[in-house]
Amino acid sequence: MKHYLLYILCLLNISFINAQIFDVETIKASGDNDKRINLVILSEGYQTSELSKFITDATNFSNEMFTQSPFKEYTDYFNVYAIKVPSNESGTDHPATATDVVEPVFPATTKDTYFNTSFDTSGFHRLLYTYNSSLVYNVLANNFPEYDQPIILVNSSEYGGAGGPYAVSSTGSSANEIAIHELGHSLFNLRDEYYPGDGNLFESINATKETNSSLVRWKNWIGINAVSIYPYGSSGESATWNRPHQSCKMRYLGVPFCSVCQEGIIEKIHSLVSPIDSYLPVSNSVNTSTYPIDFQLNLIKPIPNTLESVWTLNASNFANDVDDISIIDTDLNTGTNSLTVVVNDVSSFLKVDNHETVHVYSVTWTITKSALGIDDITSDQNSFEITLYPNPSNRIINLKIESRNAVNLKVDIISLDGKKIKSTKISSYETNEVDISRFSQGIYIANFYSNNILLTSKRFVKN
Ligand SMILES: [Zn+2]
Repeated sequence: MKHYLLYILCLLNISFINAQIFDVETIKASGDNDKRINLVILSEGYQTSELSKFITDATNFSNEMFTQSPFKEYTDYFNVYAIKVPSNESGTDHPATATDVVEPVFPATTKDTYFNTSFDTSGFHRLLYTYNSSLVYNVLANNFPEYDQPIILVNSSEYGGAGGPYAVSSTGSSANEIAIHELGHSLFNLRDEYYPGDGNLFESINATKETNSSLVRWKNWIGINAVSIYPYGSSGESATWNRPHQSCKMRYLGVPFCSVCQEGIIEKIHSLVSPIDSYLPVSNSVNTSTYPIDFQLNLIKPIPNTLESVWTLNASNFANDVDDISIIDTDLNTGTNSLTVVVNDVSSFLKVDNHETVHVYSVTWTITKSALGIDDITSDQNSFEITLYPNPSNRIINLKIESRNAVNLKVDIISLDGKKIKSTKISSYETNEVDISRFSQGIYIANFYSNNILLTSKRFVKN
């Protein structure tokens, strides 16, 4: 993954701040940086003599993170790197200016550290942060521009951390748990499930003002794994906000993420990384003189594997849930043939049945056969983010498709007794309104086709 805009902004900044090059160590390597989520841990408050301790701390964090769901299952989607940034002094600032405790909890200290992190940010004792973001992004641009998520690990035994564009955690008690919680904010857009104070909650994956169980964004999970609609508090603004669970890592350290947060994390992983790591043949790389011709997917498989693949040759199902197939002469027509494999994640962590957005991935090979043999094979990889909302609806549903390559999809709406009620076409990055006001109340299925290949089906309710 690459952050070109930030990279360019940081390049512009280099005229003001010297480019500093630091050692980068690999903590966890799963695959190419442009096909993985790259977590990049920066050291803060470690002197040069302490940088081996930093690598130990960073490795401990990574090891702990990937024992926890859903990172455990999706471990092969992540790389972890550590940038060894030395500080002049060990530790971090503690100005003793917090207003949520009786200061000084610890004697006030000021340390000369690289990113100038500090406790007591915005008056909160445990809020450990730095507003020196240009320095953070400069170090990233000069040392690891392919980062997806920076994490600043602060060499302090006091309890603290923060979310934001970069996650910050101390190395004190519960350090790994703090870092994983803060990553929940920074990379996965999760909100606190403890009450973070008036004005600090927003509609999000795991926080809402909606109280109707058929409308709430985690409606698919209601009644499963203790998910419900729980008010944050009993009075004032806190009583107007709701969370999905009473015990989630976004509320308490040392407990798992709740099902709603786990699903949100996986959805973000799918939006950043295609499970199709590579495939063969790529265009024009195939030796076509002999049959059979082999077609192969190299998938990034969750553990256990929850990816399903459907292979279609010339509109007929050819094979399911295999990584490679072989095609012989008689499988092909003279002229143009189309072979498509569609990959879906059917993890039980996802309740995509009437979930707003699903991610689907495909490879299509176009095989041109003449009397002399195979003339040509070209390939095309695509990824789709398909959204249907609102659901339920009584008047309009919106259909939206975002894809890596521009596509036109056909959408057939089918009633539960199998009748096709409506057919429409949508293009990438357009939102298509479908009027369902004349439909009778009930459950419908929207089938999304690309070149007559079924990509996915989504259920919706007309009420
Ligand atoms: Zn949660």
